[in-house]
Amino acid sequence: MAGEPQEDCLFCKIVAGQIPATVVRETETTLAFRDINPQAPTHVLVIPKAHYQDAAALAAGAPQLVADVLCETQAVADEEKLDSYRTVFNTGAGAGQTVWHAHAHVVGGRGLQWPPG
Ligand code: C5P
Repeated sequence: MAGEPQEDCLFCKIVAGQIPATVVRETETTLAFRDINPQAPTHVLVIPKAHYQDAAALAAGAPQLVADVLCETQAVADEEKLDSYRTVFNTGAGAGQTVWHAHAHVVGGRGLQWPPG
């Protein structure tokens, strides 16, 4: 069922504490932890604790959680003292999504190019 934990989902396992992660923030509905393969000095993932496979499913199924995740990206940026940063939702394999639990990347701490690759 939409929003329910999935047994085979890496990020659901992080939420459940079954896989370790370096958590930087937690709210009732979200978790923020450092990416294990950082692409910048700050690279944090913000996820809804509920399982939705990508940002599109999250927006369709639980729009309040989109707001919760986005507010947390700003909170992470504040804590990391970033005045500029990028928030990315890779959505679909063609866009580089590899983990099928919605997540926002918060990337900053260095100059970022546009357009992205
Ligand atoms: O957008 P995408 O699905 O590719 O992002 C998944 C991210 O999850 C990757 O940046 C990867 O490094 C990160 N990851 C992680 N901890 C894990 C597995 C993946 O931070 N245990």
